[in-house]
Order: sequence, then structure tokens, then C-alpha cells
Amino acid sequence: MRILVCGGTGYIGSHTSVVLAQMGHEVRILDNLSNSSPVVVERIGLISGRRVEFIKGDIRDRHSLADGLAGGVDVVIHFAALKSVADSCARPLEYFDNNISGTINLLQAMTAAGVRHLVFSSSATVYGNAKQVPVTEESPLQVVNPYGRTKLVMEDLIRDYCVSHPEFGATLLRYFNPVGAHPSGQIGEGPIGTPGNLMPYLTLVAAGKRPFLQVFGNDYPTPDGTGVRDYIHVMDLAEAHVSALSYVSRNPGATPINLGTGRGYSVLELIQTFERICGVEVPYRIVERRAGDVAALWADATKAQELLGWRARFDLEKMCEDAWRWQVGNPDGYPT
Ligand code: NAD
Ligand code: UDP
Repeated sequence: MRILVCGGTGYIGSHTSVVLAQMGHEVRILDNLSNSSPVVVERIGLISGRRVEFIKGDIRDRHSLADGLAGGVDVVIHFAALKSVADSCARPLEYFDNNISGTINLLQAMTAAGVRHLVFSSSATVYGNAKQVPVTEESPLQVVNPYGRTKLVMEDLIRDYCVSHPEFGATLLRYFNPVGAHPSGQIGEGPIGTPGNLMPYLTLVAAGKRPFLQVFGNDYPTPDGTGVRDYIHVMDLAEAHVSALSYVSRNPGATPINLGTGRGYSVLELIQTFERICGVEVPYRIVERRAGDVAALWADATKAQELLGWRARFDLEKMCEDAWRWQVGNPDGYPT
């Protein structure tokens, strides 16, 4: 297939692009590099042994999208978004503009180009403060911060678009907590600035680049009091996109699908597993809860198995091992 990967130099997009290129798909990446490095394009080529095309451009720019969709594209995979919860609380309008306006623009460009298949990056954040875990795709949806609102609005507008265009197919992939890196250590999570997520921060601490990890609260109603999440290896996620490609090509309508392992781990369990597997100490301090955090969230991943024939293969040990290999090999992230 000819695939346009919007946001393809980012963390999840780069791992997915490697898998797609290795399978012989024609991959064209469109990314404005607001949170990624152009070096990623070389690394994807190096690992996959295949050339991927790169267009530096913004999904809010019609000309960039027209370039991205030129020559016939079978499926668009849409990763391009701003994703920091804290940042979204400080700059909501920028999140609405980038994520929501960008997605409207993308759907308009896809309509003009006659492209009918979309794989969309949603998030477990759409479940907000879930009353019951694990969450299924039918669990109530809830907004708890501006980033979450953009994901919910994007899901809704893709759903509405599918109703008005009955031939259009979209999967709304609700990722839980992606961690880890490609086993080659060549690509990984290389955000611009200080990471806000647990695993990339933890590996910085393990590498001695930060003095300690702040554990945000140990008074949650969880077995050890720290937050519980469904961590999923980024390579498992990448594989799920391959299955989603064939699903959207055969099934019109908008289909939400949880992508998680179906198992939750606490912050302390993650720290202990990391220390045991990587043989490095992770100094930490318990601090106040982080605003906007939920106590526990993990997926019921049955639907992904039923519809996509996909299930996560990698365990927490492998996630830690690969995240650490990436950190050690790339102590300052991607070269600038
Ligand atoms: P990332 O920031 O590493 O990748 C996103 C990429 O999109 C970056 O390369 C960025 O430069 C690009 N981008 C952003 N806005 C753009 C625009 N207007 N035009 C063109 N390119 C643009 O993030 P990621 O972790 O790879 O996440 C990918 C997607 O998955 C996002 O939509 C995110 O909301 C979603 N998601 C991520 C997580 C997570 O924890 N990483 C969890 C759930 C959902
Ligand atoms: N967390 C933490 N310290 C950090 C970053 C995160 O204790 O420096 C906790 C956070 O409170 C949550 C879990 O780790 O319980 C996962 O947080 P992350 O930001 O990675 O994902 P999300 O909150 O989006 O699920």
C-alpha cells in the first residue's frame, strides 16, 4: 500500500514506519518536526533497509497536505498532534488549533484526493477518570484536560465524517501507555525538551542526568498507593497499525479499538522491574499527586484481538530493557 504517515518522525510514528517499510509498503512521512528530529528519517531507512519519503510540512497547511497526498495514497495514518497534558492546560488554544483544526484540514484534503481510509491515533485519555477498570470501548468517555478534549473532539468529528461518507473507514486506536524502543536502539522516544511521561524521565534518572524521579502520589486507592497504568511496548503498537491498515481497507465506518496489554502496573512496580532488569538504581521521592492524574487505568483489549487479530506480545521486562538500550546508546536523544 501507499501510506501517508502524518507525524511519522515522532515516537510511535517512527516505529510504525519501520514496520511498514519492512513489509514493503511505500511510506511517505509528513511532519512539521515540532517534536521530532529529521535524523529519524535516516534511522528508519537504516533499520528497514528501505527508503522512506519525507515531506517537512504541517497538517494545517493545505499545500503540504496536497503534496503528501499527491500521486495516490491508499491509507493515511494520523499521528500528528501535540500530546502533553500539562502543556495543554497552559496553552489550550494551541492544542485546539494544532490537533482539531489539523484533523479537519486533513479530512478535507483526503476528501479532495479521494482517500477513504484513515488510521487515527486516539488515546486512553478519552476514558478520563474511569469508574471501572478495565475499560472497554463502550465505557463512558470523559474529558479531564484540554489534550483529552482534543482527542474526544477528533474522534467525534471523524465519526460524523464517516456517517456523511458511508464508504469511508477509520479506526480510532486508543493507545494506553506506550513505552520501550526499537530493539536496535536506533530509534526511541526522543522528545524535544524535558519528558513528562514516566518511562523517558525514569531512564534519564537511571542515566544520572536527573537526580531523582518524582513519584506523583502514594495515596491512591491502588495496591501500593501509586498510579497504575497499562504500559505497552511501542513495537506491539507498531504491529497493531499494520493490522488496522487491513481492517480499515475492508470496513467502512469509525471503529474505536483499545490498544493495551490488559494488565496494569504501578509506578513502584515499574521502577522495581527496571532496576532488576537493567541493573541500575533509580532514586525516587514520593511527592504530591500530579494534577489531572487518574488512579488506575488499564484496557480490556478483547476487541483488538477479535477485530484485528492482534494482541500485545512483549512484557514489562522487555519494555524496560529496550527503553534502557535506547537511553544508553542515545544519551542526549537524537543529534540536532
Ligand atoms: P510525538 O510527539 O513523538 O509524535 C507526534 C509527531 O507529530 C511529532 O513528530 C510532531 O513533530 C508531529 N506533529 C505535531 N503536530 C503536527 C502538525 N500540525 N503537522 C505535522 N506534524 C505535526 O508523539 P507520539 O508519542 O508519537 O504520539 C503520536 C500520537 O499518539 C499523538 O497523536 C498522540 O496524541 C497519540 N498518543 C500518544 C501517547 C503517548 O503516550 N505517547 C498515548 C496515547 C496517544
Ligand atoms: N508518573 C510519576 N512520575 C513522573 C511521571 C509520571 O510518578 O515523573 C506517574 C503518573 O502519575 C502516572 C504514571 O506515572 O501514575 C504514568 O504517567 P505518564 O505521564 O507516563 O502517563 P499518563 O499519565 O498519561 O497515563
